[in-house]
Formats: sequence, C-alpha cells, structure tokens
Amino acid sequence: MRPCGRSLPHGRKRVAPLTAPRAIPNLAPGYWRLKALDALSRSEWEALCDGCGKCCLIKLEDEDTGQIHFTDVACRLLDRVTARCTDYGHRSRRVPDCVKLSPTNLAALNFMPQSCAYRRVHEGRDLPDWHPLVTGDPESVHVSGMSIRQRVGCETEILDDQDYMARIVDWPNQD
Ligand code: SF4
Repeated sequence: MRPCGRSLPHGRKRVAPLTAPRAIPNLAPGYWRLKALDALSRSEWEALCDGCGKCCLIKLEDEDTGQIHFTDVACRLLDRVTARCTDYGHRSRRVPDCVKLSPTNLAALNFMPQSCAYRRVHEGRDLPDWHPLVTGDPESVHVSGMSIRQRVGCETEILDDQDYMARIVDWPNQD
C-alpha cells in the first residue's frame, strides 16, 4: 500500500461521540428510520451509538486521495475492554485533536467506519441486526465481533510514525 503522504501527526483523525455508561433507553421502535439525524433528541442521538469504539482508533488520511486508513491503535483514553472513553468529560482538554461528532458536525462522518450507526443512518441504511437498539442488549456489539474489544493496542505503545504505518488494518472499516 502506498504510504500516506501527509505527515502522520497531522493526518491522524479521531472522534469521540461516546458517553458512558450505556443502557438501552425506552425510545420509539425504529425512530432512526423516521427522523433526520439533526432532528433527533439528545437521548435518541446518544442511543444510536453502538459502542463499537472504532471511532477512537487512530486513522491516517492520504493527503492526495483523502482516503482514510484505520489502524488497530486506540486513543490513550479508550478502555480497550469496555470500548468506552475513560474520561469523556475532559477528552477535549486531554486529547486536543479529538473531534466531537454531533448533529451539527456531520462532516466528521467521512472518517467514521462503514459500520458506524450515524454513518449508516446518514447514508439511508438501516441499523444492523447486531446493533444494541435492535437486540436490546448493549453487549451484542461485542458478542458479534463488531467492536474493538481486546483487538487493539494503545497509542502510548507506539514509538514513532512508522509504527502507525505498520498498524494499518482493514477490519475496523468492514460493514
Ligand atoms: S464508530 Fe459510530 S457507532 Fe461506533 S462507537 Fe463510534 S460513534 Fe458509536
């Protein structure tokens, strides 16, 4: 694979739309099919997140093509067992390049994984059968193998930019 042209520190992307703890709220069935993303209530918006944790993996952007490459290296604030941010309230201060996905920042969706619930709904796709809103079980994203749980390393273990190149993987962006 051709290396990313952008110097890696500037090419990294991360997003943290996660809140914790997770529970399945009592919401209208299939509400995501009936409303635009920017018309969702806060609880509807938050519940859409499947908890996969893939958005908290370090990504590299090819400056020539704009293509996003996922790595199996996680943000230092990501709990690699629960797949949740360990300091959600202070993440912007502790990780300044963390981008918050919100109904007013849907442009960030272009570097979310194909399986991301926000991306799916934005593109007119339905939620998959393993999504917690479909199964009623917050663990279903992990049981189905669609999360980062125990599959990734941490950026604190990375020594230099070449290490990131060696950690590019396809699985986080599989649908
Ligand atoms: S990739 Fe999308 S669905 Fe998965 S944790 Fe991130 S925001 Fe939630």
